[in-house]
Amino acid sequence: MTGDPEAAGSTRRAELAANLTAVRARIAAACTAAGRTADEVTLVAVTKTFPVTDVRLLVDLGQHDVGENRDAEAATKAAELTGLPVRWHFVGQLQRNKVNSVVRYADLVHSVDRRSLAAALAGAVARHRDHPLDVLIQVRLDEAEGRGGVPADELPGLVDDVLARPELRLRGLMAVAPLGADPDPAFARLAEHTAWLRGVAPDARIVSAGMTGDLEAAVRHGATHVRVGSGLLGTRAKLG
Ligand SMILES: *Cc1c(COP(=O)(O)O)cnc(C)c1O
Repeated sequence: MTGDPEAAGSTRRAELAANLTAVRARIAAACTAAGRTADEVTLVAVTKTFPVTDVRLLVDLGQHDVGENRDAEAATKAAELTGLPVRWHFVGQLQRNKVNSVVRYADLVHSVDRRSLAAALAGAVARHRDHPLDVLIQVRLDEAEGRGGVPADELPGLVDDVLARPELRLRGLMAVAPLGADPDPAFARLAEHTAWLRGVAPDARIVSAGMTGDLEAAVRHGATHVRVGSGLLGTRAKLG
């Protein structure tokens, strides 16, 4: 290393620019293959564990949708970047004691997966915001509980609960493909849930699915938002 922060910053900027171009090309190719147009898919850059300087560079490169999965880190970054045109996506599992913080910076919470969380978020919105919060319901696509999500058979009840809360605007569904399994059948199930949801709530059109490893499969099955971390920013030093 040269120790010259300006030189290091321009190297990092070039690296992020190249990664952005590559990921956008993957999305465009996946859209073409699926008979969709690239503007149907929004890229969310998941910047967890990476410094706020990276977020600043990404925004400067025209990447305005940014995702985080931990409240403390997200709140700090959002505060440091106040005034920049960032749309903050909260994509991680959310504990009820964090809702008062999250509703102050989040533009879209992807991970509502239980009634107690919907209730807590609605209360926090009433206290801290003058407009409703856009949310997605996270659906579990496998048996494992570890990565959050409402079991499919409990989805209709949770949808009714969220729709009944004026503080929340249900915009669609989110899912994470099962670890180590073929993502296609899982994302096909998500597409079925989405089709059902559009019958109940026509404005709930977002499908947040697909990460660095499986965005092509997600786009094939109708993803409107892909959440890409390592493919843009590099390998994470710690688990996140
Ligand atoms: C970290 C994370 C991602 C991005 O994962 P990559 O494999 O690094 O692209 C997407 N979604 C969620 C919920 C995450 O926590």
